Amino acid sequence: MARYIGPACRLCRREAMKLFLKGERCYTEKCAIEKRNFIPGQHGKARRQKMAGYGIQLREKQKVKRIYGVLEDQFRRYFEKAERTKGITGETLLQLLERRLDNVVYRLGFATSRPQGRQLVRHGHFTVNGRKVDIPSFSVKPGDVVGIRASSRKNAVILHALEEVKGRGVPEWLKFDGEAAGAIGSIPTREQINLPVQEQLIVELYSK
Ligand code: SF4
Repeated sequence: MARYIGPACRLCRREAMKLFLKGERCYTEKCAIEKRNFIPGQHGKARRQKMAGYGIQLREKQKVKRIYGVLEDQFRRYFEKAERTKGITGETLLQLLERRLDNVVYRLGFATSRPQGRQLVRHGHFTVNGRKVDIPSFSVKPGDVVGIRASSRKNAVILHALEEVKGRGVPEWLKFDGEAAGAIGSIPTREQINLPVQEQLIVELYSK
């Protein structure tokens, strides 16, 4: 599946908020949002205007896509699946994105960022219910157990991530064993997803 390969900080600057795409760097003063929080490009400083209607909805969608590292076509498919599912469409959309394996790896603390989680999954360092899964978009469900493969337990990147993110905590819907595995306790509620986005605006955008 295709992915964005340009500069990550540029995306945060475009959305005027931290999207936490670079792990530890995002928590330091080197973060581009701390140093130059204006739209990238030659006229960036002059361009931040008040937005209305469509503009706000579009930015909200871009923000969520960029947080989870999903491109337009795949995001649209997530939305269509959320629409077909019983419940509140915006909330279901976020739940589907949260259940991606790369996100779960990040949430469990095996990676310092979602992009790093994606790469580690791609490289085959994780199992789901004991079987190797190397598809970042793999959707986990309650009862599944995500673990570090036995041969990857000493992987320096994963060990470093576990050390770095100790203080970050694991969301309530995941049950981390403190070492190498985490179980999916339930589908996350909107409160447990804890993202500063207004998903209803995305529903309005796609419903036009
Ligand atoms: Fe975004 Fe992290 Fe770059 Fe800051 S350091 S701009 S939060 S990707």
